[in-house]
Order: sequence, then C-alpha cells, then structure tokens
Amino acid sequence: MAELSNQYLEEVVKACRPYSSGGSVVDYIPGLDQSHSTDLGVTIVTMDGEVYGAGEKTNAFPLQSVSKIITLMLALEDFGKETVFQKVDMEPTDDAFNAIRNLEEDEKQLPHNPMINSGAIAVASLIKGNDVEEKFGRLLDFVYKITCNDQIEMDEEVYQAEQKNGARNRALAYFMESLGIISTDELEDALDLYFRLNSIKTNSLDLAKIGCFLANHGKSIEDDSYVIDPSHVRTVKAIMLTSGMYNESGTYAVEVGFPAKSGVAGTIVGTVPGKMGIGIYGPAINKKGNSVAGGRVLRTLSRELCLNLFHG
Ligand code: GLU
Repeated sequence: MAELSNQYLEEVVKACRPYSSGGSVVDYIPGLDQSHSTDLGVTIVTMDGEVYGAGEKTNAFPLQSVSKIITLMLALEDFGKETVFQKVDMEPTDDAFNAIRNLEEDEKQLPHNPMINSGAIAVASLIKGNDVEEKFGRLLDFVYKITCNDQIEMDEEVYQAEQKNGARNRALAYFMESLGIISTDELEDALDLYFRLNSIKTNSLDLAKIGCFLANHGKSIEDDSYVIDPSHVRTVKAIMLTSGMYNESGTYAVEVGFPAKSGVAGTIVGTVPGKMGIGIYGPAINKKGNSVAGGRVLRTLSRELCLNLFHG
C-alpha cells in the first residue's frame, strides 16, 4: 500500500495528467478554456486534519454540479427525506446529466435523482427563504460551515454565463412545472438559485473539505459538532455512489468504490467514510461530463491507498 504524502500525490498527478488528452474543456464557462486542458490538481484532507496536495491545486473554478450535493443536504435538513423524495426520485439513470426526458412516460413522473440537472432544480425549489437572495444566502452559509471558509463567493461572470446558456435548464424547469413537480411560484427562484449554485467559486481544498465533512458523517471539520443530521449525510453518500458520476456511476462504484460527485468544470469530490475527503480539478471532461484525468486519479488513489469500501 502506498503512503499518503505530497510527494506521492505529485507522482499520481504526473502519471494521470496525460489522460487529459482524452477529454475537452467546456467552452461556456468564463475563465476555463482549452489552455487549461492539461491542468490537474488534487487536495486531500484526512479525518485527523492533515492536508496533502499536488498539481494545480490552488486554481479557482465554479462548483457546477458539485453544488447538487450541497442543495440536497440543505433540503434534507430543512424538510427530511420523505418530503424531498416526493419531488425527486433516488434511482440511477442512464440519461445524460442535462437530458430532456419525457417524465410523463415514467411510472413515478419524477426526475430520476438529485444529481442530474432536472433533479437538482426540483430540489432547489424546496430551499427555504423569503426570496432568492435569502435562499442563496442560506446555502452559502451552509458552504461556509462545511468548508470553514467564509471567503467563498459567487463568480458573477460565471453566473451571467449560466443564465445565458440556461435554455435547457429552463426547459427542464418549465416541463416540471407543467407536471406539477415545481409550482409556478417556485419556478423562477429555483432556476435562479440553480444558476447561482453552479457559479460558486471554489478550489480543490474546498472540495476536499466538503468530502471530509461527508466522511466525518456531517460533523464540522473544525470542532467536531454536527452541522447536519448524520442520517442525511448517509442518504447523500448513497446517492453520490449510485448517481454522483452521472451515467458512469456504475463504473465508478466498481472501479473506485467510494462516493463521488463530479461537475462539468472538471471537478470531483470524493469521500471515503471515516478516512478522508478528496478534491480534484482536471477540466478536460469526457462526453458524460466527468474529468478524464481526475477519474484516473480517483482510480489510482482507490487502488494504491486501499480506499475501496467493498474490499475486505
Ligand atoms: N452548468 C451546468 C448545467 O447546468 C452544470 C452541469 C454540471 O456540472 O454537470 O448544465
């Protein structure tokens, strides 16, 4: 078994970086373009507070779909499992993350899970608050508590780009409104909140802390007090394992064997219960939306540090 150290992570980054050539960087996010296609950064935060990092670990990027786990946690804390899973199902899907699926043909007529766009917009419609500012403020506060970093903020330029490129997400929201999943009153706030969440600016250390928080069963990494009910953290980790890597989640469950969530900025949060959180930034993504080199890093760490939950 390999030993975790900065030098070890540098070797992992060096070995995995060339895999970036198998993917491409999305072209609509300000600050991200093909010049970043070989970027690869990793940070690991262990349960005893050690921090290890390598590569472009300090580069900033928008949270994108990693925010889906934040929204889900706060909605679960606000309403509990029963209410949340009346808005969204908890089943994996082979659909793409932004697929327009005819939910009318499904038995439950709900978005399949909270890790795809339709599901996340439905969950966002639940977040409590008098207006979108208050709702987003609550989510940002929650991110501060999880990461112990109150410097995190929304990237205004990315937010504008999300709105400009949001036609598909709007279509999903309006379709869900027509099916009664989202009410007319909730719709605009839910979409605005979704665009803002995608635009939260973070780095691989913030992601690793989110992973560590989940690994620590919902306890603050600073003072070990519960930030949310541990039963909700269990739910989120189960959904991450089955759906967090989009329609590649089955492959990741087999080849990596711990919960993870990716975003189209090429980021991944990994969480190894009782051990560590892993934050990865590698903007070249494959067609399914997952970081190519980042996925390689997860597989390598799982194998060499014996992190697969289903071993032994
Ligand atoms: N901004 C992207 C969208 O809503 C986020 C999706 C993702 O990160 O997977 O299409």
